[in-house]
Amino acid sequence: MKKMPQVLIVEDEPAIAELIAVNLRHNGLQPIWAEDGDSAQREIDAVLPDVILLDWMLPGQSGLALARKWRADGRTKAVPIIMLTARGDEPDKVAGLDAGADDYITKPFSTQELLARIRAVLRRRAPEQVNDSVAQGDLVLDAGTHRVTYQGRALKIGPTEFKLLHFFMKHAERVHSRAQLLDKVWGDHVFIEERTVDVHVKRLREALGAAGVMVETVRGAGYRFTSQPPALMQA
Ligand code: CA
Repeated sequence: MKKMPQVLIVEDEPAIAELIAVNLRHNGLQPIWAEDGDSAQREIDAVLPDVILLDWMLPGQSGLALARKWRADGRTKAVPIIMLTARGDEPDKVAGLDAGADDYITKPFSTQELLARIRAVLRRRAPEQVNDSVAQGDLVLDAGTHRVTYQGRALKIGPTEFKLLHFFMKHAERVHSRAQLLDKVWGDHVFIEERTVDVHVKRLREALGAAGVMVETVRGAGYRFTSQPPALMQA
């Protein structure tokens, strides 16, 4: 039997938490409610959730601080986080995504919208749940342990760069436009501009060090990951 996805709701307002919980339950998801960061951490320590719904304004640690903390923690770094923010708080959304949130939703939100966002992050997460590893040349990415090594040496890679690299390595030797990468790696963040892709590609290349040349810029078209870049072959 398929396990019911667990959704950790970190929200200090009981009425909102209860409304979300009821709707999740009616839609085949298992809600767990925590009213602040400390109790959320206890829940996470006990059972790793499939998705975290994280309110921005919380007593004690803010949602932003919690998102950063969980992204930096090896155990929770792959768990999708959807931030709940106040209407029209554009800088908040950007800061939330910078802190490692996968998506955001603005209060007040419709149940349908919330469920759609949760399903989207679960879908996007699905390929990573398969504990596969991909190897291209001397570069190896292990989705199970979230580790990347080049010539046997571990590389330090941020969460977005990891997702980007995972996609590149699974679809090597093909050219992907920025719009395609936004769609496949970021999902449906409509407000993210295409140049965001360039920023993360740059970070990815830096993180890869000598293997950075495997990520090629294809002028006027986008990016391609290749296991046999000319620069490496000559070396
Ligand atoms: Ca709140």
